[in-house]
Amino acid sequence: MTDSAAEPTAERFELLIVGGGVAGLTAATFTARAGVATLVVDHGESILRRNAHLENFPGFPAGVNARLFADMLQTQATRNGADYQKGLVDELAGSLETGFVATVGAVDDTDADTATADTASREIHADRVLVASWADVSYLDGLGVEIRDAGSKQYVDDDGLGRTNVEGLYTAGRIAERYHQAVIAAGDGAETAITLIHDSETPFYNDWVVPEGYFTDRGREVPPGCEEIDATEQEARQAASRAAMQEYFAEPHDERQRTHPSLVDDEQGRIDWDDAGS
Ligand SMILES: Cc1cc2nc3c(=O)[nH]c(=O)nc-3n(C[C@H](O)[C@H](O)[C@H](O)COP(=O)(O)OP(=O)(O)OC[C@H]3O[C@@H](n4cnc5c(N)ncnc54)[C@H](O)[C@@H]3O)c2cc1C
Repeated sequence: MTDSAAEPTAERFELLIVGGGVAGLTAATFTARAGVATLVVDHGESILRRNAHLENFPGFPAGVNARLFADMLQTQATRNGADYQKGLVDELAGSLETGFVATVGAVDDTDADTATADTASREIHADRVLVASWADVSYLDGLGVEIRDAGSKQYVDDDGLGRTNVEGLYTAGRIAERYHQAVIAAGDGAETAITLIHDSETPFYNDWVVPEGYFTDRGREVPPGCEEIDATEQEARQAASRAAMQEYFAEPHDERQRTHPSLVDDEQGRIDWDDAGS
């Protein structure tokens, strides 16, 4: 992605996304599909997991369980080639010239629903970083990024398309003080991802899948980031999507409802309805 970019290894990526909530995972789907070696490091507590039923995200006419939706976003990102690791980014240093280094602390995750194997403390190197975490910017202290204070919260300043004042550092979602709805966070993650792709060596980028001949039958090359698929491939993909959706919605999602952590005796805000006598 940059001239100095080394081949990505397990600890070095072209792009590190901090935060695997709605904005971060949507961004990861777009960057991974563009061929950017993307790692999402996520503490695992998207604020959306507190929602009781998500009813205003386009494409779900009867709504969707928000914890199921969050899991589907994660699968979509990894299915499209992004890596995902559980962890808490404690510190971020570096620059576009030297590369960025994130110090990642372990997550104490006792919830079997969201636990992943690797939670050890480690360093991760990346050419670029996209921050899509909560509105807590303390881990960005050493970077000189412009921060906006708003009461108890602090937000990262950007140019409206996700670029911060630090070259190579991008932002999306709540930490950039976007409106507080999932579809806006998703759209913002996608927009920042495309900004980042445009800033890299990837040429003009659409990310469209079109029927065979859509471009080529008009004597045009398939543009970068577009794919023509024939009827057989289209049928196969539609069958796979039907099967996946049937599986997702076959049973109720089993992760416990979250609420505000101050309301229950569980640091992640998980409600045990049985214990609560509901
Ligand atoms: C109770 C409740 C109900 C809601 N209901 C709705 C609704 O019905 N409809 C709607 O549209 N919106 C709803 N929302 C809002 C919606 O959840 C947010 O707009 C959306 O989740 C914001 O996305 P985000 O990616 O910016 O943040 P999040 O989804 O919160 O993701 C941030 C991620 O960053 C991770 N993280 C934080 N710090 C670090 C770090 N240092 N290192 C690594 N990872 C880190 C977190 O664990 C989290 O996974 C609701 C919110 C709440 C609180």
